[in-house]
Amino acid sequence: MKETVEHLASGKRLDATELGELLRAATLDDALLQLLRDYAVRTAREQFGLGIYIRGLIELSSYCRRDCLYCGLRRSNRTAERYRLTADEVMECCREGYRLGFRTFVLQGGEDGTHTDAWLEELISNMRTTYPDAAITLSLGERSEESYRRLKAAGANRYLLRHEAANEELYASLHPDSQSGIAGRLACIDSLKRCGYQVGMGMMIGVKGQSINHIAEDLALIAAKRCEMVGIGPFLPHHATPLGMEPAGDLRLTLATVAIARLLLPKALIPSTTALATLHPDGRKMGILSGANVVMPNLSPSDVRAKYAIYENKASWGKEAAEGLNALERELNEIGYHCDLSRGDYKY
Ligand code: SAH
Repeated sequence: MKETVEHLASGKRLDATELGELLRAATLDDALLQLLRDYAVRTAREQFGLGIYIRGLIELSSYCRRDCLYCGLRRSNRTAERYRLTADEVMECCREGYRLGFRTFVLQGGEDGTHTDAWLEELISNMRTTYPDAAITLSLGERSEESYRRLKAAGANRYLLRHEAANEELYASLHPDSQSGIAGRLACIDSLKRCGYQVGMGMMIGVKGQSINHIAEDLALIAAKRCEMVGIGPFLPHHATPLGMEPAGDLRLTLATVAIARLLLPKALIPSTTALATLHPDGRKMGILSGANVVMPNLSPSDVRAKYAIYENKASWGKEAAEGLNALERELNEIGYHCDLSRGDYKY
């Protein structure tokens, strides 16, 4: 298996079967997992040095028309507290973020029917003219190609749309409300590429019904699509969902998957996810020490943060964004890294 890691690190393409074998071996063998992570860290350092890109996350709305089995914001969760930010509130988050040095804003949210193209266009144009040097990333789920095109024209640059599961049956079991299934999700990803976005894919690790072979399929798909960003984090149960009694995803398997993603796509922007930081107190650092090169601190107003509960007990650095940024810098310094406040676009 050591040779397989070396092949992967030197740019050889592995198929899904080989990726599955490697993942399985890495979760059983500490030395192999460490080797994989060491290569991934070396690859990330060659590309990005010791700087970690910082993205300010603004959680637009907890209303959602979808019913994803794993997510606390699913429409069937009658106990979820719903809120939506006004455009003024979003601009206020950006103002504070920009003042602190953030040069990427990520608008994420449930699929909220009130977020029409016209409403989003106005907000994005306003952000674009107020902060011409900042990148705008959207993570607002499935929309039409026409919609993606309009939002791009208004000033958006990047779009995060995790594919969630490459395997058709697994995708269908997690998204019972989806008519179009994984084909529809991938059609959105292709639309986003056609519109000229930098596109992010990804999946959770350890969600119910997912095998190691499924993760291998996900990795093979991510490599084939050559996406610019890859989000990988552990599944975390939310009590008010059908998966509320399921165990959280495995730490080592998550780290192995992040490391392989880095080796498959050396230039990709890969976050050390909040889910990973929630799973383990040192999760954020472990993600970086597995090849991740991005962190996404929360810029949402502190009074709505608890309501954006895709899972529970989300890790954060305290209520104020400024406080958070200092704590993050200290955390990164502990492992020899630092915050890089530049825009951090994908370098083609
Ligand atoms: N509505 C948007 C944004 C979803 S939130 C969309 O559909 O793309 C961003 C990501 O959080 C999701 O893509 C999913 O992979 C992840 N997520 C949702 N629920 C989760 C849970 N319980 N545990 C871990 N990650 C979760």
